[in-house]
Amino acid sequence: MTAEDRIADVIARNFRPKPKYSVCEWADKTVYLDGKATPKPGYYDTTKTPWVRRFVEASQDPTIREVIAPKSSRSGFTEAFLNIVRYMPEHHPGHVCLVMQSASKAKEMVPKRLHNTLKACCEPYLTGSRDDFTLQLMKLTNMDVTVVGSGTDTWGTETWYRLIGLDEYDSHDQTEHETNADLARSRIRDVPGATMYIFGKCKLKGGPLHSEYLGGTQEHYLVPCPECEAEIELCENGLDFGHLKKMDGNYNMAEVLTGTRYKCPACETLLTEDKKRPMVNAGRYVPVPKDMRERDERKKEQRQFFDPRHSTREGGKDHRVAFPGRVSLRISDFYCLHDDLTWGHMAQKIIEASKSPQKRKSLVIDHFGTGWGETAAEIQETDVMRCRGKYLRGTLPFKPLMFSCQVDRQGDRVKYVKTAFNEKGEMFIIDWGELLGDEDLDLALDKLHPVKDSTEEYAVEHGFGLYDSGFEEAAVFDYCVDRDYRLHPSKGSKNVESIAFAEQKYKTHRGGRVYWYIYNDHKVKDALYVYKIRRRKAPLVWLPENTDADFMAELMAETKILEKDKLGFVKEKWKKVGDKNDYGDCVKKGLVVWHLAEASGIINERLGLDKEEEED
Ligand SMILES: [Zn+2]
Repeated sequence: MTAEDRIADVIARNFRPKPKYSVCEWADKTVYLDGKATPKPGYYDTTKTPWVRRFVEASQDPTIREVIAPKSSRSGFTEAFLNIVRYMPEHHPGHVCLVMQSASKAKEMVPKRLHNTLKACCEPYLTGSRDDFTLQLMKLTNMDVTVVGSGTDTWGTETWYRLIGLDEYDSHDQTEHETNADLARSRIRDVPGATMYIFGKCKLKGGPLHSEYLGGTQEHYLVPCPECEAEIELCENGLDFGHLKKMDGNYNMAEVLTGTRYKCPACETLLTEDKKRPMVNAGRYVPVPKDMRERDERKKEQRQFFDPRHSTREGGKDHRVAFPGRVSLRISDFYCLHDDLTWGHMAQKIIEASKSPQKRKSLVIDHFGTGWGETAAEIQETDVMRCRGKYLRGTLPFKPLMFSCQVDRQGDRVKYVKTAFNEKGEMFIIDWGELLGDEDLDLALDKLHPVKDSTEEYAVEHGFGLYDSGFEEAAVFDYCVDRDYRLHPSKGSKNVESIAFAEQKYKTHRGGRVYWYIYNDHKVKDALYVYKIRRRKAPLVWLPENTDADFMAELMAETKILEKDKLGFVKEKWKKVGDKNDYGDCVKKGLVVWHLAEASGIINERLGLDKEEEED
């Protein structure tokens, strides 16, 4: 756009009469979401997600240039952003670019959520040419809408934009030199009435989205209590379901669903779900008080892993004051008005997640909107000492519900760890050793271990064990196949994003299919070292009381560090600090075996539980 064009554009905009309605009012009347876009077709309804009002109307406020919004799963921010796009041709034209995390996500979203609605809302501005609507580019007579994946060269075909959205920002591919946020900033600079939006699930405190959030106004959504009118922020602490706990320490999940209330922190009234809709619709965003932010700041300085330069690259180092024109908004699913995400559902999720560190992390990321605040973790000798139980190495402390063996190959040496599980899912390390080859391994697997105070003896079960194929893959495959999967090949994936806890895959080997298990190395290490060893979270891990110092040392050989990537964003990483960690690796894979057995229904089968009972 030349300077002349830009001046003409400003004049054209200024002569356009300002509409008497807001973007949200317009959307409620105009945007019809069909069956492709939503399971419940109908007109868009802002009262279902009233917190998006400030997010949406900011696009029409010339004093606001940036909106940063960490979102929860049901925040509705993506649809709200699309409403701004739909509103623009008629009222506020200018090029739009939406950058999603990947090109495939972009191609999936566009035909479902943008093509039809854009055609319906912007009919006078369609060019009439079929070719003008592709999966990546929608050309209208007065503006273009581009939707691309991050990390592609094509992002940003135009030199300027009036609206840029960076969706799922924490999953963006970032280039080495400049963050995508800074790239976007350069494309809206000098464009009158332009706004940039950064939103998505906040994955890690100190990560890209959280850093941007800290540079803004940091507004939280407060709602009035219908009893005392105090303005409260809905959060985990307010959910009241503790009285629904049964004598045995468990919850009746059906009662939790219907019996959970929200306790007003001011007047202590127990609020029922039906109060939520009017409360949330009467809410407003309020910036976090400055003194609270200063306190957070000090904490962060002590932890020393947040680099304030990111959020205020243009604005100096002091981000206790928001960068001018930068608004940041936070919302969580405690405000959600969907029937399937009530306070009762949130309580169920919280109870469920209390049993599993991984579930807790997903809960925080998906539903709390705050980002996961993991810190560095160092495993101390006292942590490992606390894991010692009252049984001796080589002896089973009980008749095992499951008895497995995990093996690691290092050159000509093979190291193994045997683990037994009880019905609570607790893992007991039974025995370990270092062998010279596969034949010795067969003997070790055949060995019978006596059950404490009984005449029974058990060997490791056929099919319950993993053999790491990270080293000499072909030899490990041969071993596993030749012995009819007495052990299964396995491999840790370093890519944290790529897979869940563990999954089965296959690979062609010597003309046949070999099944193996790939596990998420980072998540499995989190589960073992942080939750089970350091924090002693149930189901526990146990060691024999006569565990030797060498074995213990190998359980202390890994440390979780927070490392800055090339852009300076914080990433979690497990690092080997000790001499050897092979036994630790074998113990870790015991959790994978339990996970796989649980996922395949074997555990419930052995416990005599059927699926329905489990749901209860
Ligand atoms: Zn109250």
